[in-house]
Amino acid sequence: MGMEAKGARWTESIVLGGIDVGETDRIVHLLTEEVGRLSGVAKAARASLRRFGGALEPFSTVSVRYRERRGTPLAFLYEAEVRTARLGIRRDLWRIAVATYVAELVRELGREREANSDLYRAAGWALDRCATADVRGDLIVAAELRALGAAGLSPVVDACVGCGIVDVVGFDPSRAGVVCERCETPAVHRLAPGSVRSLAAIAAEEASVVLARAAYRPVTNAIGAFVEYQLARRMKARAFAVAELELACWK
Ligand SMILES: [Zn+2]
Repeated sequence: MGMEAKGARWTESIVLGGIDVGETDRIVHLLTEEVGRLSGVAKAARASLRRFGGALEPFSTVSVRYRERRGTPLAFLYEAEVRTARLGIRRDLWRIAVATYVAELVRELGREREANSDLYRAAGWALDRCATADVRGDLIVAAELRALGAAGLSPVVDACVGCGIVDVVGFDPSRAGVVCERCETPAVHRLAPGSVRSLAAIAAEEASVVLARAAYRPVTNAIGAFVEYQLARRMKARAFAVAELELACWK
């Protein structure tokens, strides 16, 4: 179909972002189901409605036909078809803010040319919630814990990482879990008992979990610090997402 594309293949992917190049081209960042993170240049993307249509919009799930190029990590994208557009994300600021952060997070956790179907599913789950679910304060932490789990980085949330007792008082990002009073260090994010229970419920993927207003910042800040500790970088879109979700939940 259309352009000559020897060695090209189709793959399912989530569009994480992109930048326009020159007059008509676009570089697109994808998380694919089969080959992990993949960036590609879509030649004449903005001119060719037939080949790309609106299929390269951030947060959508699309099938793309691509080909690797020798000597560069940037693939060629030949065409794309929308599977799930997730247009609902554009309805509210909190939806866009959280989706933007989810895209940043999975891009950081994903590896180039290395399939991670759990991470792919976690990204789709979080973006679906951004597109269609009612606003809920647990969304950012739930998305983070699923994405971290997919990357093999789940924190310990049910007993002290230092000694194993269940009576814990906070979360230590550098030790990847909750800690008791005796194992506490100055780096620990203090959590009230209700916050500890909420964190454990979110980690257990309980559908009915409610993150109370008083627990929102403590739990969200603790897991955010853990994400940034694990990735050794500041997440650019995170503060905006945390602030907008809080405003949407509690005004
Ligand atoms: Zn302990």
